[in-house]
Parts: sequence; C-alpha cells; structure tokens
Amino acid sequence: MDERRSVSVFGATGSIGESTFDLLMRQGGPRTYRTVALTGGRNVARLAEMARALQAELAVTAHEDCLRPLQAALAGSGVKVAAGAQALAEAADRPADWVMSAIVGAAGLVPGFRALAHGGTLALANKESLVTAGPLLMETARRAKARILPVDSEHSAIFQSLLSEEMRSVERVILTASGGAFRDWPVERLPAATVAEASTHPNWAMGQRITIDSASMFNKALELIETREFFGIDPDRIEVLVHPESLVHALVAFCDGGMIGHLGAPDMRHAIGYALNWPDRTPLPVARLDLARVGSLTFRAPDPLRYPALALARQVMDKGGLAGAVFNAAKEAALDAFIEGQICFTDMAGVVETVLEDFSGRTGFGPALAPLEAVLAADSEARARARSVAERTGDKRWKSRA
Ligand code: NAD
Ligand code: MG
Repeated sequence: MDERRSVSVFGATGSIGESTFDLLMRQGGPRTYRTVALTGGRNVARLAEMARALQAELAVTAHEDCLRPLQAALAGSGVKVAAGAQALAEAADRPADWVMSAIVGAAGLVPGFRALAHGGTLALANKESLVTAGPLLMETARRAKARILPVDSEHSAIFQSLLSEEMRSVERVILTASGGAFRDWPVERLPAATVAEASTHPNWAMGQRITIDSASMFNKALELIETREFFGIDPDRIEVLVHPESLVHALVAFCDGGMIGHLGAPDMRHAIGYALNWPDRTPLPVARLDLARVGSLTFRAPDPLRYPALALARQVMDKGGLAGAVFNAAKEAALDAFIEGQICFTDMAGVVETVLEDFSGRTGFGPALAPLEAVLAADSEARARARSVAERTGDKRWKSRA
C-alpha cells in the first residue's frame, strides 16, 4: 500500500506554487509525497519540469491552447495531461490529503470548493475564495469535515498566535502592512505611478497582481475580509498597522491587555511550510531573524487618503452577502485596466467604489450564505460593470489630456 501523503498544488507555477514545490522537493519529493495533480497557466515548460520532478499523476494547464505544448513537454513521462477550466475543476475532484490553493484571483474559487468536498486539508493562499464566498467556504469545509489552514502570512501569524487561546479572550486583531511601493511617495504623485513602479515591493517577492495590490492596499483590504471570514472576528476588532520592516506579521490583543505577535523573515515558505507540516513544526529553509541587527521595529497608522481601499473593505464587511464577490471582481477588473494602461493607479479605488454603489442600490447584496452559482454570477456581472466603468474613466482621462 502506498503510504505517502497525497498532495495537489493549484497554481504550481506561481510565486506561492514555486515555494510550495521547493518545500515538497526539500522534504523528499516523490519519496515522501504522492502528487495527484499540479496546475499552471501558460508556463508549460515549468509545469512539465515540476510534474516530472514530483512524478505527478496529472498536470493541467488553464489554457486549452497550451494543451499540445504541455503534451509535448511531458511525452514519455507517464504524467497525464489536460487543459481548460473544466479540467482544473476535475483535477480538484481527485482526492488528496493536502491541497494547496494558490491560483490567483476568483479563478481559484471552483477548484478550492471541489477540493474541499473530499475532506482533507486545504492550504488556502487564494484569499479571494474567502473574500468572495467566505461563509459558504467555511460551511462546505465543516460539512465535508475538511480543514482549511491559512497560508497568507498575516493569517498564518494570527492562527499561530491563537494556538491554545480562547476566541472569547480576543479583543483585537492587528494585521500589519508594509505600505507597499508608494508608502513614502507624496500622495499628489500617486496618479502618475506606473505599472512598473507599482510592481515592486519593498520586502516581499510575490506575483505581480498581489504586489500592485500591496501598493494600493487592496491586498490588505482583501485580508481584512479574509480575517473576518476565517476567524469570525467582528470588523471593528480588526485593525491595520503600517509596519515598513515586514517582520511582525500580525498581532492578537487579548482582554487582559497582553498581545501575542508573530515575527519572522518575509519569506512565504514559513507560512506554506507551517500549513504543510501542521500540527508539527519542521525545520524550514527560511532566514533566521537577527533582531540585534534589525535594531528597531516601527509602526504607524495607515493614511486613509493614500489607501482608500481599506475604507471600501469596511463597507463590504458591513454589507455582507455578495458584497465581497462584487468587491473582489471589481478590484480584479480595475487592476486589469490599470495594468493595461487604461486607467491610472488612483482610479482603481474609484472604479471599485462606483461598482459597489451600483450594486448596493439596485439589488442589495443577497443572503449571507449565497450559493456558489450566485457568487459566480455576481462576480461576472460586477466584472463586466467594472470594465465599463474603467473604460469611461479611461476615456475621460484621455480627453482631459488631449
Ligand atoms: P502568481 O501570479 O505568481 O501565480 C498564480 C498562479 O495561478 C500561476 O500558477 C498561474 O498560472 C495560475 N493562474 C493564473 N490565472 C489563472 C486562471 N485564470 N486559471 C487558472 N490558473 C491561473 O500569484 P501568487 O503571487 O503566487 O498568488 C497566488 C495566490 O496566493 C493569490 O490568491 C494571492 O493573493 C495569494 N498570496 C500570495 C502571496 C505571495 O507571496 N505571492 C502571499 C499571500 C497570499
Ligand atoms: Mg498577506
């Protein structure tokens, strides 16, 4: 009988996926793990390399036009190959003890839900799943007796700070934020920020989308909602603190005035490795902190003018229901429009705000436990709406410059 632990990695070729692959290989690769499925996008060469190294049973690319190149790259390897959104969902139907959900954006939603249906452990990097469908995701996990472990560094930090604590003793939770690429720019300069400038992060090496979301703090906005959904904490007890060094990942404040925080080098392999080895701790290849060399840790309150996304997240948490799905979809479409050069950096928050207003006036935001179909419908409607708002916003800017 095969006694190896079975694993699947969705989004294996991304930043989180690469770190996950690195840890799986360091922990013995195919000797320790039976890899059920690996998925990726257009980088089929890398996906094939990973599938060979882990002797995966199945490799799936999200793009149908990448099927042939993936087949060619895996010819003779014994790895099965498939392509497209349906194939991704079917890959998630294959049971595995541990599944990494590291596709970026709402595209990670369906594979995550399908994987949860088997029980087992879902290591959740895809925060968009909790933002768009938090109550449903938690309920699905509960019913299937599956476990969700947070991979986002702040949420892993909260999770670790809460070990052997009672939720009723928790007064506040504090998420730290680096402040992103434009932390020290004059606010007036932000409209001129380029995509390249927004795509650099002072401390973390991450995928481009989450890096830009860090500069705008849309990432922290998603994380506020993620905290609310995962830990069930009231929004007014969740705070954000700018911490430029990115060494304290989160703090939990208790009713007796004490705080427990989690420190570590800014390396996602800590949070991924924690979720992989939980409930044990295993030596991980992350830098050890030398606090004497670090010298000082600094904190400041986030500036609401620089980071309007934070207030939008609070509106979303007040509304509940499908507001998270609308928010995330509008954010993704606004980000696309910024990356494509249609709107400027500071327009993104305006686009999202307009879409939120449109939805709240017209249909309300639906039931707390909206079914997945309703979430997906709200997502595609909000995305289309955001695209047209972005187009109008871009046109106006273009005319005002002409
Ligand atoms: P990334 O862009 O580096 O990688 C994304 C992965 O998803 C790639 O494998 C890509 O091929 C795949 N993908 C992209 N679009 C897809 C689609 N439409 N269908 C199927 N697959 C698709 O992203 P990342 O930075 O690794 O982030 C992944 C997730 O983890 C995101 O939800 C992000 O918010 C979260 N996260 C990332 C970090 C980090 O350090 N990078 C930290 C915390 C949380
Ligand atoms: Mg994070």
